[in-house]
Amino acid sequence: MIPAEYVLIILSPIFFAFVAFEWWQTRKQKPAVYQWRDSVANFVLSAMHQFGEAVSLLLLMPLFLWLSQYAIWKIEFNYLNLLLLFVLQDFLYYWFHRASHRVRWLWASHVTHHSSRLMNFSTAFRQSLTYPISGMWLFWTPLIMLGFEVKLVISVVAINLGFQFFVHTRWWQHWGVAGYLFNTPSWHRVHHACNPRYIDKNFAGVLVIWDRMFGTFEPEDAAEPCRFGITDEFESVHPWTITFYEWRRMIAQWPQTTGFSAKLRLLFGPPQPKVAKE
Ligand SMILES: [Zn+2]
Ligand SMILES: [Zn+2]
Repeated sequence: MIPAEYVLIILSPIFFAFVAFEWWQTRKQKPAVYQWRDSVANFVLSAMHQFGEAVSLLLLMPLFLWLSQYAIWKIEFNYLNLLLLFVLQDFLYYWFHRASHRVRWLWASHVTHHSSRLMNFSTAFRQSLTYPISGMWLFWTPLIMLGFEVKLVISVVAINLGFQFFVHTRWWQHWGVAGYLFNTPSWHRVHHACNPRYIDKNFAGVLVIWDRMFGTFEPEDAAEPCRFGITDEFESVHPWTITFYEWRRMIAQWPQTTGFSAKLRLLFGPPQPKVAKE
């Protein structure tokens, strides 16, 4: 087993404890914070995602190791280099995430994560089986080319995702001064909202500085509560339907799309929501 899988498996009892605690704390709240069908879908989607990641890593590992022969440097393991790797990977995560909202081929996978009307810790589990097809892994290859050790890169990707579990909640309002530097539940609620002013904002993984630097930061406004989910009227709780929702729309639109550039736009242009973004 590779280290990346250890990271999330080691953390999983903590994740489940947080889900259980939040569910218990909010069980009498109206409207409901948890709906069991939604949470079951999230857990099944997580299992499908983990399976997809394990298979794709088996297939991609030879490619990553082959690439690493051509790395510019051989970066040795020390704490300063590890910190550098965390920051660089988080920077690439920001661009992966931003691209996932602007390029339909990537959105087709990422929409799974945004397709719930609820926001709770179990929403973090709502991930797509098809990320390897969309090419999420491509975003980490610059780190390998720079000379970071392949398994270390994979572990850091997993730790970044592990951190993001904690921002999926309506529980915490603010994290005080930490919110200047770090992604927080409040910033990430904005990211999951489909209110026009909140769309395509707060792409941060761990550090929110990238949003502040590149003009995509939007704070949560108490006067405008977040409406979670996507602009399309999509309500399925079936993992398979959720996973292939956007892929099926793309396939359905393919025969009606004429011309090479139009077909390219269909695949790699911006997402085409049924209800247009304002
Ligand atoms: Zn997103
Ligand atoms: Zn999220």
